[in-house]
Formats: sequence, structure tokens, C-alpha cells
Amino acid sequence: MTPTDVVKVLAEQLVLTDPLHHLFDAVDAISVQGYDENRNVIYWNKGSERLYGYKKDEALGKKLEELIIPKSMREFVITAHSDWVNKGIEIPSAELILRHQNGNDVSVFSSHVLFTNKFNKKQMYCIDVDLTDVKQAQAQAIFKEHMLEAAFEAIPDLFFLMKEDGTIIDYHASNKKNLYVKPEDFIGKPMVDILPDEVAHQFKVNIAKVILQKDVESFEYELTMPYGKAFFEARISHLPEHNHVVTIVRDITEKHKTAEVIRHHAYFDTLTLLPNRFLALDRLSQMLNEAERNNEKTAILFLDLDDFKKVNDSLGHEVGDKLLIESAKRLNQIVRKGDTVGRLGGDEFIVLLRGLTDDHNAVTIAENLLKTFRDPFKIDGRELLLTLSIGIAIYPDNGLCASDLLRNADTAMYQAKGLGRNTYSFFTKEMNTTMLRRLEVEEQMHGALERNEFEVYYQPQFDVKKANIIGAEALLRWHNPALGNIGPDEFIPIAEHTGLIVPIGQFVVKQALTFLNEWQRLHHRSYRVAVNLSPRQFRDEKLLRFIEKSLDDANVTADSLELEITEGVLMIGQSYIDDALNELNKLGIKLSMDDFGTGYSSLSYLRRYAFDVLKIDRGFIQGIPKNEADCELVNAIIAMAQSLGLKIVAEGVETKEQVELLSTLGCDYLQGYFFSKPVPPTQLIDFSAGYIN
Ligand code: C2E
Ligand code: CA
Ligand code: CA
Repeated sequence: MTPTDVVKVLAEQLVLTDPLHHLFDAVDAISVQGYDENRNVIYWNKGSERLYGYKKDEALGKKLEELIIPKSMREFVITAHSDWVNKGIEIPSAELILRHQNGNDVSVFSSHVLFTNKFNKKQMYCIDVDLTDVKQAQAQAIFKEHMLEAAFEAIPDLFFLMKEDGTIIDYHASNKKNLYVKPEDFIGKPMVDILPDEVAHQFKVNIAKVILQKDVESFEYELTMPYGKAFFEARISHLPEHNHVVTIVRDITEKHKTAEVIRHHAYFDTLTLLPNRFLALDRLSQMLNEAERNNEKTAILFLDLDDFKKVNDSLGHEVGDKLLIESAKRLNQIVRKGDTVGRLGGDEFIVLLRGLTDDHNAVTIAENLLKTFRDPFKIDGRELLLTLSIGIAIYPDNGLCASDLLRNADTAMYQAKGLGRNTYSFFTKEMNTTMLRRLEVEEQMHGALERNEFEVYYQPQFDVKKANIIGAEALLRWHNPALGNIGPDEFIPIAEHTGLIVPIGQFVVKQALTFLNEWQRLHHRSYRVAVNLSPRQFRDEKLLRFIEKSLDDANVTADSLELEITEGVLMIGQSYIDDALNELNKLGIKLSMDDFGTGYSSLSYLRRYAFDVLKIDRGFIQGIPKNEADCELVNAIIAMAQSLGLKIVAEGVETKEQVELLSTLGCDYLQGYFFSKPVPPTQLIDFSAGYIN
């Protein structure tokens, strides 16, 4: 078509009144196109230029399908247009994807009208609204929705959409197990109707806060679910534009459990489940506050299982643990509800009794505590007897603060042990002095060895028949600048308790052997020296090697060393004791049973271990010859020892009568003040020189 043709055609086609065209020309947000019966462009406004890229001049006279119709639609468009023109079948408005001049898709909402002009020609006008932005927004919305869905699916939290009044509109739960009720039972319902009152109240309060402050509120709550107790954290935020609130609910049961376990570990003993030291002492302080307020008396009972170490050492820790668990149960059964039983550590327990009417109350409970231990414990098919020692301190009589009361109850417990165990003792002021003295001795003992405060004395032993000295017992002496002379009966138990007996004991062995060598050399005699060994020293793995080396260093033979042990050592019943004794025996060292007659005086021990010597305790010697019972006992011991092939030493011989009787009874050796007190080495050398015959 030439331009003149176009002008002619246009003139023929124009039907629209100018004002309408002016309007179309003015709106460039909408594309308006006009087509003649043959789909040639007869009108193309600014909006069309913008939407499809073709300038008016480029578009006019061109065919619709050549301009903006994608190839795949052309056939269809041509048919639809001709159906409308010829048969009156209207083309409905529709969303279409048309084509820009540059080949890109153009999303439009297209409406169409058909006119018949004065030349009886049909003209189609298309009005296209650009849908690009709308489409993009829609796609964005759909994407957001999908993304949210995927996020909800991936997050274990629950999600609720609620109205501001708490009515639940929608929810999301990847894990339905955490839903308190079924969705059909809560959708459309106010959450106050669904949740337990207390939790519902928390929700109400926090929703109100969130609406007021436009912040996120979070809080924790607890629900009883079909699978048990569960803890949740809810976070609420407001959608003010929509008058909604969004709630995210997280299951924090695990976190709670961990926190609970940590709390429990911090305050409860894991073995017995009793309050531990911290909690027990905390309760003690609380109890004291209350007692002060109410003007009441309270009691602190300090409990210690007797010889528990022995059980633990001989039967193993597992049995020991079971015993502790059972003991804890028994203790708990005795006390009232408001009272406390705690484990202070090891085999020490504490019992706190509140609201005593008088001290008598504590006595009853102490007696009941001792009583529950009378039945043997049945553990792993074994029956075990265990006893307790209890120390009692009363508030306010024996102290006002927790630490004083605890210390005093502890002191009283020591006293109970001293009374022979399996008993209780009330704290007295005098005990405090004893305790203070103990602490002082302990303090001074540290470093005493390094400061050379120890010295070994020797007490000679006599062979009555031959009237000569066969050897001496090494007895330790301690002179401390602050405390003066402290007797071994006082400091040895403390040294055992602290473990200092190990280095101190080694010192004695070294000294005694060095002295022995000198003594033997000076007098050309095979004297022997007896050294006392404490139970605690056997736990020292290096004991044997140390003794062996000391013998070597001092250049004395093993058979001139005698080790004195008490039954206590044997009663530990551990195999390492047996092994040590056997080794000592193999080395040729002599073994002596000390203090025989006290304690169990078990014959079986004498038979079982390779003892060479038996020492009759000085308590029996004291009684002879006046006390008949003692005489008989000494007589029996000597006879028995002889039958076992043991040499007999009588200790604590002080009188001529004792010497005479003991010789008649056949006692081999005598030791005691009658002959000599324990003396320093040089003095012994001088003294014994007079007996060389
Ligand atoms: P023990 O083994 O029974 O020692 C004998 C005690 O009797 C010594 O007391 C000694 O001085 C005392 N004694 C000796 N003859 C007489 C007497 O005729 N009359 C009286 N009344 N007493 C007499 P000591 O030296 O005070 O020692 C007390 C305890 O301390 C000893 O009893 C012993 O068990 C322990 N001990 C002393 N030195 C050591 C040591 O080096 N190591 C260990 N583990 N314990 C020691
Ligand atoms: Ca001894
Ligand atoms: Ca003794």
C-alpha cells in the first residue's frame, strides 16, 4: 500500500468522532488500536507505541498479525476476527501474551469492540492494558507463598495466625505431635478455649503487650502432652495492617531437660540422689534463719560410716557404691518430711532436724538412725554389717552459724568414733579444745620432717634366760618448737589420717637401719631392730622396694629387721596386704604381731600369715600378777604362741614380779620401763654395752 492508498483507506475507515480519538491519544497508559475488516491498522495511539514499540507511522496500514500477534496465535486470531466480522461471534476480553517489536512477550488484558462505520465497513478496536507489573507482582506473591511453605515445612516450630482477639485462623505444623489439640478442634476458635487456663492467660497477656508495643514478645510455658510433659517457647508478633498476630511455638523440652540435669548435678549427689554438700549447707543456712525467726532449736547430725574405707578397699568400689545408696535410703526413711538428709562426700552424711522441742528429739532420731543400720545390708548376695558414728550439734547452744555448727558436729562425730563407733555424741566445749589441738598438730606436722623435728628413740628388748639384750623397738619422738613434745599416740593417728605417715614412716625405717648397722658394728653382735608399720603405709606401692633398698644402703641383713603390725592391717583384707606380707617374709624380714590381746586377737590371722613374733599388749602385763584373769590370759597367749612356733615379747614390763612371772610362764623376751624407757640411740649404745657378756 502506498502512502496515498493509506490516506484513502483511512479516510474511508474513520468513524470515530474526534473527541474520542483525542481521549485515546491522551491516555498513554492504555494501548488503543483500530483495525479495518482486513485487520490493517487504522488507529495506533501513544499507549500502543509504548506497549508494543512500533511508532504510529510504522504501525498504520500494517496487519494486526504481522505486528503484535505471536506466530502460534496468528491462525487463531485471523479466524476469530473473520468470525466476528462475518458471523457476529464476539471475541471476548482476555489475558493474552502478545509480541513487542523487539520480540519480547507482552502480557496484556485485551478488550475488543466492533463498529460499523458510515461506509458500512466493520472496524475492530482493541484496548490493551499492560499486565507486566501485575504479573510480576503475582509471580512474586506466589514465590513468597511457596517459599513460606517450604520454610514452614523445614522448621520444626509451630506457626499460628490469629486475630487480635486470639482466634486461631490458620496454622502450620510440620510436626503434628506438638499440637495440643487437633487442627479441626482449634481452627476458628479462640485459643483461650483450647489451652489450659494458666497458659491461655500467658497468651492473652503477651498478645495484648505485642499489640500495644509493636514488638516481639516471647514467653515459656509447659503443657502435658500425650507423650509426657513438654516445654514450649512462644514468640508473638503483630501484623497491625491486618489486625492479626503471628505466633511461632518452639519445643524447648530438650533444652529444659539439659538445664534441669545441670541444675540437678550442681545440687544433688549423683550416686545417692541426696542433696549434695552445697545444697545441704544451703538448707542448713535457711533452716538457721527460720530457727532464729521462730525461736526454735535445730540439730545438725554429722554421720560417718564406720570402717567404710575397709569395705570399699576389700570388696571393691561397686559394692561400696551400693552400700552408700542403700545407706542413703535408710537414712531418708528415718527423718521427717521437712528435715534434710544430705551427702557431704565419701561416707559422710548430714542430717538436719528442724523445730526441735528439746535436745531429746535429736537423741531419738540419732538412736533410730543407728537402729536402721542394725539389719545387715544385702548386696550381691552378701550380707554386710555397717555401723555409723554420729556427732550432734544443736543450734543455738553449740553455735549460731552454719560453719561453726558443722565443725562442731564433726568434732562430736570424732568423739563418737573415739567412744568405739556405732554410737552418737553431743558436742561439748571440751571437744572444741580437742579439735583445735588436732588441727594445730596437723598444721605443725607439715614440714616437721624437713625441719628435722623427728627423732627415733629405742627401747631395748631383753632375753630373760640369757640376761642379754637381743634388740630394740624403734619409737618415734617429735619435738616441735610451737607445741613442745607431742607423743606418738597423739600424732601417729593424725599422720595416718593425713597420709604424712608414709614419708615419716620411711624416715623411721632409714634411721632405725642406719642405727642398727652402727650398733651391730660397735658391739659385734647381731642385734635386731623392730619398726612399727601403720596400715596406711601398706597402701604405699613403694613400701617394699623402699625397705629393700634401705636394708641394702644400711648394709644390714633382712632377718635383723622386724616389722610390727597390728591386726588392723590384716583386717583391711585387701590382696595387696597379703602380697606385701608374703614378699616381706620372702625377703627374710621378721614379722611381729603387735598389741596382741586387744581387738579381735584372731587366731586365724596368726595361722594364715608368716608371723615370727607375738607381742602381748601392755594392758595385760599391767594386771599381772595381781589380776587373775590377766594372768590366765597371758598364760594362754604364751601357750598358744608357743604351739604356733612364735617368739613372745611382753610389752610394758614395769615390775620385778612381772619379770618373774613372765619368765616362769615361758615368755621369751621382755620390754618395759623396768629395764629401760625408750632412749636416744647413743644412750642405748652405752646402756647395752653393759650387757655384753
Ligand atoms: P606400741 O607399738 O605399743 O609401742 C609401745 C609403747 O609402749 C611406746 O609408747 C612405749 O614408750 C610404751 N612403753 C614401753 N614400755 C612401757 C612401760 O613399761 N610402761 C608403759 N606404760 N609404757 C611403756 P610410745 O612411744 O608413746 O608409742 C605409742 C605408740 O605409737 C606405739 O605403740 C606405736 O603404736 C606408735 N608408734 C610409735 N612410734 C611409731 C612409728 O615410728 N611408726 C608407727 N607407725 N607407729 C609408732
Ligand atoms: Ca610396737
Ligand atoms: Ca605394742
